[in-house]
Amino acid sequence: MCITISEKHGLNPSISLCFYCGKEKNELVLPGRLKGDIEAPRKAVWSMEPCDDCKKYMAEGVLLCVVRDHSDPKCPYRTGRMLVISDADAVRIFKMDPTKERFAFIEESTVSMVFCDPVNAKA
Ligand SMILES: [Zn+2]
Repeated sequence: MCITISEKHGLNPSISLCFYCGKEKNELVLPGRLKGDIEAPRKAVWSMEPCDDCKKYMAEGVLLCVVRDHSDPKCPYRTGRMLVISDADAVRIFKMDPTKERFAFIEESTVSMVFCDPVNAKA
């Protein structure tokens, strides 16, 4: 790989964040010169590659990342809570295709509706 070094920011280092959980990955990105020769953010999501924890969760089942209701769908506010459900439940509850999708964002209100609703819990 070849890096064009920025005259202002050098290798322009940035800590890579996991797209799914938002935690820091053990990964330093050196983008060098960016468009407009801007300084790279200290921490940012640089790829869709999950962190080791999320990779493990996605191998165990379908990872649901809980986000705040009505937050920006392009970059929803992650609450930090995550759920892992079985492939069978992903199909049954969310009509997902676990062979293609190992992850979904889920709003807090949906979590309480699907998993913690006391009315459904009694049934
Ligand atoms: Zn992660």
